[in-house]
Amino acid sequence: LREGDAGRTDEALAILSRVFGYDAFRGDQAAIIDQVAGGGDAVVLMPTGGGKSLCYQIPSLLRNGTGIVVSPLIALMADQVAALEGVGIRAAYLNSTLELHEAQAVEQQLLAGELDLLYMAPERLVLPRTVQLLQRARLALFAIDEAHCVSQWGHDFRPDYLGLSMLAETFPGVPRIALTATATEATHRELTERLHLQGAKHFVSSFDRPNIRYRIEPKNSPREQLLRLITTEHEGDSGIVYCLSRKSVETTAQWLSDRGIPALPYHAGLDAAVRQDHQERFLRAEGLIIVATIAFGMGIDKPDVRFVAHLDLPKSIEGYYQETGRAGRDGLPSTAWMAYGLGDVVSQRRFIDAGEGGEQFKRNARSHLDAMLALCETVSCRRVQLLRYFGQDLGAENCGNCDICLSPPTTWDATVPAQKLLSALIRLDRERGQKFGSGQVIEVLLGRENERSTQYRHEELSVWGIGQELTEKQWRSTLRQLLARGIVEAEGDYGVLVPGPHAGPVLRGEVTVELAEDRTPQRAARGAGRR
Ligand code: ADP
Ligand code: ZN
Repeated sequence: LREGDAGRTDEALAILSRVFGYDAFRGDQAAIIDQVAGGGDAVVLMPTGGGKSLCYQIPSLLRNGTGIVVSPLIALMADQVAALEGVGIRAAYLNSTLELHEAQAVEQQLLAGELDLLYMAPERLVLPRTVQLLQRARLALFAIDEAHCVSQWGHDFRPDYLGLSMLAETFPGVPRIALTATATEATHRELTERLHLQGAKHFVSSFDRPNIRYRIEPKNSPREQLLRLITTEHEGDSGIVYCLSRKSVETTAQWLSDRGIPALPYHAGLDAAVRQDHQERFLRAEGLIIVATIAFGMGIDKPDVRFVAHLDLPKSIEGYYQETGRAGRDGLPSTAWMAYGLGDVVSQRRFIDAGEGGEQFKRNARSHLDAMLALCETVSCRRVQLLRYFGQDLGAENCGNCDICLSPPTTWDATVPAQKLLSALIRLDRERGQKFGSGQVIEVLLGRENERSTQYRHEELSVWGIGQELTEKQWRSTLRQLLARGIVEAEGDYGVLVPGPHAGPVLRGEVTVELAEDRTPQRAARGAGRR
């Protein structure tokens, strides 16, 4: 192992304190900075809030020439540059929002050696014109931020990132550092390969965020559940509430405001000025809640976000982890809370099936969703499972700071109900050629007459009413868990239920099915709000 240059380390520390006002490096920062400042390549996997920016900003200041920062987030560049300028760093960006003369001025500054850092999006960097420009400039390094975007397996693939593979050959003497907060082992391998970083030094931080308490509960009356979380545990705290659709963002923000909880909406459909205003108010104010689609939060650095709530199921664990990671950057106790239900699973499957993208893409999307679902329905420590997903080991069975560890679910033997449910699906299909969504299947199991059961004479089926040992609510909980385990599958536009890939052994009685007792909270009492 090459020992770092002691002089360089001192200089890095001096910059850390003089420019950024901090007195010590965190985690791997010092080692990463030493590697890159010394001219080596690096691959950095660090969770959100871990402090990735300094890992390329300080080497850019230590080395001669300009550090080129590749980022997909054009909307954030102006803010990032303004923040750097605020601490006396010579920074600029090149993107489509600049007028021609502004871009030309930046190019002149670059060639004159007057920039420490220059931000641009990958699609800009790979243009022949930009490559020629950079070849005429003196470069300190390339920093490839959000490097998981190069991975086709990942949840956030951006084709423009593939072009960055040329950097290794085109700029052989310039060190490269790739950074991401969302790497699984598969993504890590893929980005290393695609960016030609086989010779790089790899820095993998622990992804654990011990101060975040993970909690996932079944969705019952989501807004009431959220309101209860806020009023009982996070009164007056800042928080982010994520919803899937713009409409539910709007209605949820309004609903909270009506109950005296200060909340603002944020989504891509809002006017840019309104969005900017809401974001700034959230950053400045204390105790404000922002209700947002996932468009919100990229690059947001507010240390005292006390809770992140999901009212809809995220599409992947990577996304969930990144979003929940915005809580508690200051290290103080924080909550990552989510409510999810059967409907989420069905609608997301449908969305994937109906969406654009090839078979491979859809297969990836489905397996991302399945992993997310398994996290929701786990009966063991959520943190252990999250870390395992990122290829890491907590070193213990229980974290003591997730809902499962704090109140372990009681489990029950659901083998017989699972067999009954599968039999019902099979009978309906074989004898009537019919497939139904969860609602009607549960009605059949409970033997409850409705228009459809009368129309189709479901009461004549041998499975009619065979599931009366469970309540409707228990059946819903059972179904969710069976879906998460692939014993049942939801199919097609209407989410009709069919036996899943793991149904066989259950039907044949070769395995027992242990499920968690339903944890659905009681419906929040009316008027639990402040008014
Ligand atoms: P990431 O990009 O990994 O999400 P950032 O680079 O935005 O994280 O850093 C997160 C926060 O931590 C920022 O407010 C940053 O200024 C702060 N930070 C980074 N490194 C240090 C350090 N060594 N000491 C104190 N604060 C730090
Ligand atoms: Zn735990």
